[in-house]
Amino acid sequence: MSRGASVIRRALARATPLATDRRGGLASGERHLAHGCPGSHRPHTASRPLRIAMLAPPWIPVPASGYGGIESVVHQLTEQLAARGHGVTLFAAPGSRSSATVRSLLEHAYPDAIGEPPYEADHVALAMAEIDDARASGAPFDVVHDHSGFTAVAMADRLATPMVHTIHGPFEPRLGGFYGRHGHKAVLVAISPAQRRSAPGDVSISAVVPNPLAVDDWPLVRDKGRHLLWLGRMHETKGPHRAIVAARMADRTLVLAGPVQTGQERFFAEQVEPHIDGSGVHYVGEVGGLAKQRVLSGAAALLMPIRWEEPFGMVMVEALACGTPVIAFPEGAARNIVIDGINGFLVEDEHAMAVAVGRLAEIDPAACRASVHRRYDVDGVTSAYERVYLTALRQAAARSGMREARREALAR
Ligand code: UDP
Repeated sequence: MSRGASVIRRALARATPLATDRRGGLASGERHLAHGCPGSHRPHTASRPLRIAMLAPPWIPVPASGYGGIESVVHQLTEQLAARGHGVTLFAAPGSRSSATVRSLLEHAYPDAIGEPPYEADHVALAMAEIDDARASGAPFDVVHDHSGFTAVAMADRLATPMVHTIHGPFEPRLGGFYGRHGHKAVLVAISPAQRRSAPGDVSISAVVPNPLAVDDWPLVRDKGRHLLWLGRMHETKGPHRAIVAARMADRTLVLAGPVQTGQERFFAEQVEPHIDGSGVHYVGEVGGLAKQRVLSGAAALLMPIRWEEPFGMVMVEALACGTPVIAFPEGAARNIVIDGINGFLVEDEHAMAVAVGRLAEIDPAACRASVHRRYDVDGVTSAYERVYLTALRQAAARSGMREARREALAR
């Protein structure tokens, strides 16, 4: 093995982020999960096909044609589980497509109302009613896998079917004690070690399973343009305005791509739009499909000047799959995904970002792709989730055994 390859291997071994407890060791109840991690041996998985109710958010059809990180996760996981023979029913927004059975319970998708409680509560309540009906009709689901927001986990104890809840957002102050009060009702999964570390002390997280990417569906492109890329929603935390500053300092053209969502209009108009000049700074709007792959694979680097506890950051993994280095501020999961000097650089501010642009020749596109293949490919991530489902089933069986024993003791 070349020295370069062994450096990459060592760096990857340090960076593998799955199924660790708060101290970074394997949680005792989860040690078996390690075998299901991306990059480890092909796991022994569920011994029989499971019936899985996959609960997507109600906002955007699955798969997303443009913006939609959670929808992309749900799509890839659902397809892979169905291909493995599991019986998956996907509860998702109208317009969703899948090889699993699709149930769309609301009249519309609501891409402009992301997070609005009535739609989420409606979607979840209707899905829960169908999950109850399945049990009553003698064909129960084994497990519910919830990605939908907050309503489902808060109400999980009203279902007889165990729930796995993937936490897709950061632990923000506005959540208050939400997960402390309701988290025990489901098996909680974090999507990065950084997110898990930021969890309040009273929140018990069973496993860290990263978001998946079907890496082989993304092109590895070695010949890059000179321009830089910023891709995401036009939110202050994601830093398109900081990317503009860094690109100017580096004397490089910047391409900005992404939607201006409801509530982001003012930020875009004041902080981003005035700098779009069609020469130094281009704005190409929201991108999807092949256009997104082209934009990601052709850039010299993806800039991630984020200022928040990034829970994951799918765009980083997508760029790296294309062999495109990522230059990120060391916030949240950027610290897990970016391996400084191997697949990009972690930098403190816009000035350091511009300096790092000058070092891009040090980064090998093949190393970028290798850095995500092992850790985030959908095959390994699906195996890790199969393990989590078995944990949920075991916990539910133990709970019902305890209830039974209590009943017998009382009857004696
Ligand atoms: N995205 C897209 N088109 C765009 C902007 C974003 O398809 O114009 C996708 C992007 O590729 C990624 C997702 O939306 O899959 C955003 O997920 P990420 O985790 O990066 O950010 P967040 O969920 O915080 O917005």
